[in-house]
Amino acid sequence: MELPVVNHEDYFAKIGDDHKFPINKFGELANYLIQNKIVSKFYKPSPCSFETLSYAHSKNYILDIQNKTLSKEGVKKIGFPLVDSVVQRSLVATGGTVLASKLAINYGISCNTAGGSHHASYYGGAGYCVFNDVAVASHYLLNRGQANKILIIDLDVHQGNGNSEIFKDNRSVFTFSMHSKTNYPAKKSNSNLDVELEDNLEDDAYLNTLKYYLKELNQENFDFIFYIAGVDIHFNDRLGKLKISDEGIKLRDELVVENFFSRRIPFCGVLGGGYNKDFNKLVELHSMLHQSCAKYIGS
Ligand SMILES: [Zn+2]
Repeated sequence: MELPVVNHEDYFAKIGDDHKFPINKFGELANYLIQNKIVSKFYKPSPCSFETLSYAHSKNYILDIQNKTLSKEGVKKIGFPLVDSVVQRSLVATGGTVLASKLAINYGISCNTAGGSHHASYYGGAGYCVFNDVAVASHYLLNRGQANKILIIDLDVHQGNGNSEIFKDNRSVFTFSMHSKTNYPAKKSNSNLDVELEDNLEDDAYLNTLKYYLKELNQENFDFIFYIAGVDIHFNDRLGKLKISDEGIKLRDELVVENFFSRRIPFCGVLGGGYNKDFNKLVELHSMLHQSCAKYIGS
């Protein structure tokens, strides 16, 4: 069986060619996955509905994004210009993670080619995150009774502070974030389990720490996994402060996928951040999530 992967051409938004965020990666990642025969087709999401978004965001904030009436401070905190293509991108990328979560229920494993907007919280976006797609999709599954105990395993270099804030009083979602201690956000929130890593950490120490915490997480009975596979842990990332190699990222993704896939827990992988100095390398690193999932679905 082929890995179900969700993609939409509107994941690309017009934010200006000189913008720090490498928005072209979404289109290039889709090309890479097809050219390298990791998948032969994509599932196309619909824009997330207002009702579904409102599971994780305040109505005023959603309206401010849809009508482009968000305050200057609110827009500045997000870091993208609030233009039509950014609004559309935010809606389809969130719809993409919702669709991917349904595919994971049906097929056991799935991926989005965007998502992991983990800095967005109930009242507003932040750090290149408009809507918190994983939080929206988690509520979507819980509301339909398709999951009762969700794990969000967040290995982006930045803390998943939006997820931990949205789910701080929700016992049906366990938030795990393993991130750089000194990276954004300066003020961390409290996940159910936070692991703070020192600057310049390398592969062996990183992977051993991950293995230790995967064992801990295996003590709980989760029935759905969201994996935020940020590749900004790479040594050549413009923002991240860790020193993980290409091979380290590949092994990390394989460890995580194998750990949950072998237990047959529905698994949905989303992209997370990545700001590599080398654009082609960035696309290749993001594809490791999809390659890892494809490897296990074929096994
Ligand atoms: Zn990040």
